[in-house]
Amino acid sequence: MSWTSPKYNAHFASAIAGLRKDGRYRDFAVLERLCGEFPYALMHGADGVTKKVTVWCSNDYLGLGQHPAILKAMHAAIDTWGAGSGGTRNISGNSLIHTELERALATWHGKEAALLFGSGYTANAAALAALICLLPGCLVFSDAKNHASMIAGMRGHAGKQIFAHNDLTDLERKLAAADPSAPKIIACESVYSMDGTIAPLREIEALAQKYGALTYLDEVHAVGLYGQTGAGVAERDGATFDVIEGTFGKAFGVAGGYIAGSAALIDAVRSHAGGFIFTTSMPPALAAGALASLNVIKTAHDLRARQQRQARRLRDKLKAAGLPVLDSASHIVPLMIGGAHCCKGVSDWLFENAAIYVQPINFPTVAVGEERLRLTPSPLHTDAMIDELVGALDYLWTQQHLPRQMVA
Ligand code: PLP
Repeated sequence: MSWTSPKYNAHFASAIAGLRKDGRYRDFAVLERLCGEFPYALMHGADGVTKKVTVWCSNDYLGLGQHPAILKAMHAAIDTWGAGSGGTRNISGNSLIHTELERALATWHGKEAALLFGSGYTANAAALAALICLLPGCLVFSDAKNHASMIAGMRGHAGKQIFAHNDLTDLERKLAAADPSAPKIIACESVYSMDGTIAPLREIEALAQKYGALTYLDEVHAVGLYGQTGAGVAERDGATFDVIEGTFGKAFGVAGGYIAGSAALIDAVRSHAGGFIFTTSMPPALAAGALASLNVIKTAHDLRARQQRQARRLRDKLKAAGLPVLDSASHIVPLMIGGAHCCKGVSDWLFENAAIYVQPINFPTVAVGEERLRLTPSPLHTDAMIDELVGALDYLWTQQHLPRQMVA
């Protein structure tokens, strides 16, 4: 049996006590997804009782995690190729399905090549670190609201500059003040996962051209959801970024990540990114599921339209009830609460009284004081479910005298 010294255990316990005191201790909801019944799931309460709940915070944005064609492709892949990939891409873990998926992703994004990673997090952290290493003396201009995975890729880099969120004036000020001969990367997201804001991609692209910067775009919350074929906001807005980064873990309904770009850039990252080189490649069944999902996504116009309709409907109803919803332009509907204890209290009350599951979002995912419920309506959330959620929140706000002001 392993043994950890009481001295160390006391240290860990006091770190946890601090989180509990601030209301930031993370309880993971134990959820059993029910294939064919999304957005319903079975939730195991702390008392051991199981309850069927409506899930309002899933990133399976289109419900593709239960799509028959995707499940069939994954079953078939397991039966054909077995469970794991057998190695890294370099040492016995490369297969036809990996290369086929990369080709399909590259074509979809209008790029020469693509590269798979174990997750979107690893794709960002590994690819950005590799690009920084490949471009000595490079300056990285990073949006203030960029995801932790992008920040991980730039950690410790002396040439990192943070520009105010979606602020073109601040970005240009920083670009203009930089050494014109230094290599530059502008890194941003298209849809920001916590506020639901969308970046002005065409304008960022124009600044990049003016100042000779490479552009890196995280489309994790946009692939599958925006653009004629679902390739993201860059497709929708007609913007061209040098690197597109995406995930199979959200709208694709599976798991894994990737980047797409020029053949030379992808080849260089393939040969320099530790998070690509030194890790077992994605299981063939995941690659097969992602490829099947991509084929569904390309023509999923009705699902995309209905998701946008339900997001608009939910936002409008929350606004009409005077609840503090952020007026975002995307499918992400943040309900601002402020205060970790209150946020958790609302989440617990919804579970106990309305069989609704929505996870409280606390620091460090959002800033202290900006705690919220992040609502993600899908095409499978019905009008009745929206009415039920808004009704429950409205009742609770009245009962607890919670502030109703709109957040700008
Ligand atoms: N980028 C953004 C903006 C994200 O929100 C996330 C995950 O939440 C990731 C990257 C990581 O993607 P994955 O879940 O595939 O690791």
